Amino acid sequence: MSEKSKNKEVILKGIAASPGVAHGKAFVYLQARLDVPCYEIKNGVEAEMERLEQAILETREQITEVKNKIAASLGEGEARIFDAHLLVLEDAALIEEVSNEVRNSGKNVEYCYNNVAERYISFFSSMEDDYLKERVSDIQDVSSRLLKNLLGHHKVGIGELAENSIIVSEDITPSDAADLDRNKLLAFITDGGGQTSHSVIMARSLRIPAVVGLHDATSTLQTGDEIVVDGFEGLVVIHPSDERLYQYGKLAEERRQRDQLYATVLPGPGVTTDGESLLLMANVEGAHEMDAVRSMHADGIGLFRTEGIFLRHHGYPSEDTQYMEYSAVAEASHGQPVIIRTLDIGGDKTLEANAEDESFMGLRAIRFCLENRDIFKTQLRAILRASAHGNLKLMYPMISGLDELRRANEILAEVKDELRSEGKFFDEAIEVGAMVEVPSAATIIDLLARDTDFLSIGTNDLIQYLMAVDRLNDRVAHLYEPTHPAVLRTLKAIIEGGQKVGTPVSICGEIAGDPIYASLLLGMGAHSLSLTPAMLPEVKYFICNMSAADARALVTEVLALEDPVEILERLRAFHGTVCQSFPAA
Ligand code: PEP
Ligand code: MG
Repeated sequence: MSEKSKNKEVILKGIAASPGVAHGKAFVYLQARLDVPCYEIKNGVEAEMERLEQAILETREQITEVKNKIAASLGEGEARIFDAHLLVLEDAALIEEVSNEVRNSGKNVEYCYNNVAERYISFFSSMEDDYLKERVSDIQDVSSRLLKNLLGHHKVGIGELAENSIIVSEDITPSDAADLDRNKLLAFITDGGGQTSHSVIMARSLRIPAVVGLHDATSTLQTGDEIVVDGFEGLVVIHPSDERLYQYGKLAEERRQRDQLYATVLPGPGVTTDGESLLLMANVEGAHEMDAVRSMHADGIGLFRTEGIFLRHHGYPSEDTQYMEYSAVAEASHGQPVIIRTLDIGGDKTLEANAEDESFMGLRAIRFCLENRDIFKTQLRAILRASAHGNLKLMYPMISGLDELRRANEILAEVKDELRSEGKFFDEAIEVGAMVEVPSAATIIDLLARDTDFLSIGTNDLIQYLMAVDRLNDRVAHLYEPTHPAVLRTLKAIIEGGQKVGTPVSICGEIAGDPIYASLLLGMGAHSLSLTPAMLPEVKYFICNMSAADARALVTEVLALEDPVEILERLRAFHGTVCQSFPAA
């Protein structure tokens, strides 16, 4: 009996989040809380302190290794955070306190270390000083690393994957994603999550399949299990049979042929069969994606999510670090427009420093920036200085009303004055736009369109707020319906609101990268779509093979329908007519 025939095939059904098929080995990644045992020591205090010393040595090696890796891939500036970690690790006062606690309590060293670390954490958390407050995350990081070593948990970190791994996790946060070795990752699957969580957005940008909302994948699977991830249908096949592998092989071949077909339209403009053009721009998170942008012949950057830089940095990068990254993107764009979105932190994109606010309705994006003027001003200075190197435009996320727009613009004006007086160059006429992703902004679109140079609809958030469906919660994911009549009417109203006063309206949420919606958005009159570069060929192919007149007729037709499922079917059918030339499966 072969190895394979011993294991029965099992299929798990979840939510299809990022298309594609991957075949590889599961790597179960649990962000489990550490269970720190407490017991009376038997071998004396010295033996316990020796164990601590050993664990410190081991931890120092690990931190230094990560530091060197980050310095090589992202630069010395980004690696500096690990110097702070080494200082915490070797802090003499902390070690002495642990030693005293072991001596006085007679308890094991991990228990005492944990107690001391927790005292430090609560002490620093209560500080007024922001710098001292930020030390909390350093202590948390170092103490959990050290405790793992003391407890002998030599679990592989998410950044140390084996080749051809498929991550199986409860969830993947954007900060986990920042640590991933993307060359070894084939796919990921999660117990929780929704279709527009930022880790899923990352999967789409890397063109790796993802299935989310599987509920119990982490308990069903074990590291090393052979699995197939089907990101088209939202399936995970454990111990796939030879026949199943053959079927998926065929699908992959078909996909490869389609990709070749899509690529044929790339060098030309995005123009419909009846001559209407639609700009196809790229969503990026940093300068490292500019090669992909160029190879996909994007018409510029429609959304530069700057928080990626902050997450990779595990904190707030300096003005110069930001300036260099923004300038690199501006220069690599060779005069094409680059829309830089100011920091959209909060929700599922938390830094250790603002980890207490994980709510999508909390102190997120522009709200956070208006409360943290120094962080905001640093970013605005960096963006303005980078505007001297290309065609940059600036965009505020999550604007909910005119007052926020006005306050953000006041700070921008202040920063411009400062730069002028310092003799620093920047684009005086830099265009300023707002994202429309909060329902209140959609309702006052006439006012926002009047006071901005451009608008961009963030459908990921707009749909979540309009439908009151948390974009991360798999239990309500079925209610996250881009084809709900309320969504369609709102999109139409926003686009028309912009058109009335000549303010261009783009779409930059995930539906802009899904060819099913291309006809709808084009037919409604969107000025451009901004999408992950990986999806650009497919969407462009559909644009180039459809007629704008047909797309407009389709919009009229679906706006008269009441049922989201019927509307989706109608869009699929329209899309299907363009697919007829595809190679057979
Ligand atoms: C959106 O909300 O659609 C958007 C593009 O912003 P993000 O996904 O980064 O929240
Ligand atoms: Mg958003």
